[in-house]
Amino acid sequence: MSQVKSPEAFLGYKLGDRYSPHFKVVNYFRQVAENSPSMVKLEQYGETNEGRPLLLAYVSTAENMANLENIRKNNLRLAGTALDRMAPNENMPAIVWLSYNVHGNETSSSEAAMMTIWELVNPANTKTKEWLKNIVVVIDPCINPDGRDRYVNWFNSVVGKIADPLPFTREHMEPWPGGRSNHYNFDLNRDWAWQSQVETQQRIIKYNQWLPQVHVDFHEQGYNEPYYFAPAAEPYHEVVTPWQREFQVMIGKNNAKHFDANGWLFFTKERFDLLYPSYGDTYPMYKGSIGMTFEQGGHSRGGAAVINEDGDTLTLYDRLYHHFTTGMSTLEVSALQSSKLVKEFKSYYDKARSTPGGEFKSYIIKYDESDRLDRLKKLFDRNGIEWSYTNSATYTGWNYFSNKSEVFKAEPNDIVVNANQPNSNLVRVLLERNSKVTDSATYDITAWSLPYVYGVNAFGLTNYVAQVSKTVTAATAAVGVSSQAASAYAIRWNGMNSAKALASLLKKGVKVRYAEQPFTTQGINFEKGTILITRTSNQSLDGKLDGILQEVTAAAGIGFYPLNSSFVDKGYDFGSGRVRIIQAPRVSLVTGDGVSSLGMGEVWHFFDTQLQYPIHLINVNDVNKNTLRQTDVLILPDGNYRMLSDKSMNEILKEWVSNGGKIIALENAVAQLSRNDWGIKMKSDDKKDDKKDDKKDEYAALRKYENRERDMLVNANPGSIYKAELDNSHPLAFGYPGFYYTLKQDDNLYEFIKEGGWNVGVIKKEAQVSGFVGTKLKEKMKDGLLIGVQDMGRGKVVYLADDVLFRSFWENGKLLFCNAVFMVGQ
Ligand SMILES: [Zn+2]
Repeated sequence: MSQVKSPEAFLGYKLGDRYSPHFKVVNYFRQVAENSPSMVKLEQYGETNEGRPLLLAYVSTAENMANLENIRKNNLRLAGTALDRMAPNENMPAIVWLSYNVHGNETSSSEAAMMTIWELVNPANTKTKEWLKNIVVVIDPCINPDGRDRYVNWFNSVVGKIADPLPFTREHMEPWPGGRSNHYNFDLNRDWAWQSQVETQQRIIKYNQWLPQVHVDFHEQGYNEPYYFAPAAEPYHEVVTPWQREFQVMIGKNNAKHFDANGWLFFTKERFDLLYPSYGDTYPMYKGSIGMTFEQGGHSRGGAAVINEDGDTLTLYDRLYHHFTTGMSTLEVSALQSSKLVKEFKSYYDKARSTPGGEFKSYIIKYDESDRLDRLKKLFDRNGIEWSYTNSATYTGWNYFSNKSEVFKAEPNDIVVNANQPNSNLVRVLLERNSKVTDSATYDITAWSLPYVYGVNAFGLTNYVAQVSKTVTAATAAVGVSSQAASAYAIRWNGMNSAKALASLLKKGVKVRYAEQPFTTQGINFEKGTILITRTSNQSLDGKLDGILQEVTAAAGIGFYPLNSSFVDKGYDFGSGRVRIIQAPRVSLVTGDGVSSLGMGEVWHFFDTQLQYPIHLINVNDVNKNTLRQTDVLILPDGNYRMLSDKSMNEILKEWVSNGGKIIALENAVAQLSRNDWGIKMKSDDKKDDKKDDKKDEYAALRKYENRERDMLVNANPGSIYKAELDNSHPLAFGYPGFYYTLKQDDNLYEFIKEGGWNVGVIKKEAQVSGFVGTKLKEKMKDGLLIGVQDMGRGKVVYLADDVLFRSFWENGKLLFCNAVFMVGQ
């Protein structure tokens, strides 16, 4: 009866013979769904930035498929997240979710997805039909279609009739920025919890509607590496349960059995840890699933065939067949263990609701009149984290900002997150002040405590807190009504909504000013940085000013204040020199070889999708006198710039700055400027310290070979949070309190600027707040500059030594960046 075709019969080539562009993968899945309607349901859950479809295929027996919606709803009842609150049935199939190609240049995996779905529906394969009685398989054939096609289209354009296996040839050298990331060069396997990217946002909606018991994320690594599968490496976050560990071992052993039978090499328990919450393995783990990463060798440089160090030729077919094998092995074990998987899943959530672990039973998060808390609430909503308002009462809790236990009063707009909820483990992981790790050798940042990331104060409490469900409208937010009588309008400068409104006003040609000093008028206090729009300077808008203001502020989600005079009761009048005009800057972003694609992508994505202000992307080789002449602000993202090692290029840039240009340098770009006489100097006491140590202990140099990896950790800082002190009288820190929590991912620290510049953000002693920092490094990380401004002629250089736009998730850094773009130097 079934006319369903194998990949080879449908595509016209054997899988592995060549790369399938994304549309062919899509067409194959459609064909399978059309010709196996009783076993397969295909759903488009979204679209990428470049307009490619995102798909999920649900596969099971005809009997399960007829009952699919009930299985889904029942599964949510098991977790306690179903809306209907009906009692769950524990006698249900388990849900196994297979995700392919999250990294676009790890290309064998979407090919493996086609082989996998084929073997599930292939009438001749009786084994899989047995498994499907106990499981529903969800297949995402390609999480990152834009990245995949960037790689595949490039590769297909450079390969000859016979693939060249020599690893130094052109087809093994993927050009910048590579296909790993999505359209905006974001790493989608760092985005699960934050959901800054459209692919993730759309997928997590589906994920939370299903909550699979097992999730596998298929990856590739360097082509010399043997296959990696679960069990994962230490550190595991302590919320990972014994059953989650045990099932990883079961899968690992079954995979090993199949690999041994074929004589394929593999490794387990190394390198890929379970800590950072935004991976495709940890995020499912913190939602009660068994999350796993599988890694085949061959990403990016694997081509269609490559000769590895062992002298063996690794082909695309080998790679996809290995992925196919571990996928099948996972389904086999999951089918055998399905009732245990369902039972353990239910008990995970039962426990989450009744006896959550962790230091705190609840968290009260303070409203501060900015949009920061609103953004955090959105993040909670996206992750299914329950929050509520609470009674205005007095509580005792541990204050995240002051770092001690205090009595405090909850206000009407504050929110509470109680830990006794289905997502209590995720709540704990995201809100705990310091993650307890079983090992410090980790793959990613070690601190992400949300109050610091969002810059909102929070209190951790050891008891549950009463919830008040009614929504409270922010009493203090101004709702503006424009009136012809107003001579000026004011907009508070306290968050991304303010910046969005400013960007939009500038785009529309409105003349905007900012107040350098606080002022009081009509009985209202305004802070430094307040945006002012005066009617006088905007007469050219021909009476449209009021309409524009209404529209812009409504779109940005912010209020404004009509003021009837430019005369103020306290502070400087609007005609004063202390009230500065903001010129709309022409902003250029340097991209291309040597520039960090992730760092550049963060800035691009920020301008394009959040701020919505024009940004001009220039290739690094095209930065010259001519392009600089058409630029007011030049952004140098993290990177390793050849032009900054070039003397004449440094001179050209300095001359341009002296004539009124502004450079915003981020991360390693700051380090490079510090080596080229730009005024900033890196603290370089490392060598001195080492010598001192050696004197203290004659035997310090005697290190054990087997400890070599661990020894490196004493100097490591994979990513931890420091509290920087801010000079918020400087425009770079407008809208901030006197401090900022920065994500420090290296040991770069600069000397205080003694003249000709401003030390806007510095760390002094004991500034480390959360996360792992190596013992030796910890000593050195004090008394230095992280955020600064250098005056140079009529221009400025802004130094941001840390990534203030980190993964678009470091919410509280975004306003700093906007200050650098719009406020500094006006
Ligand atoms: Zn990967």
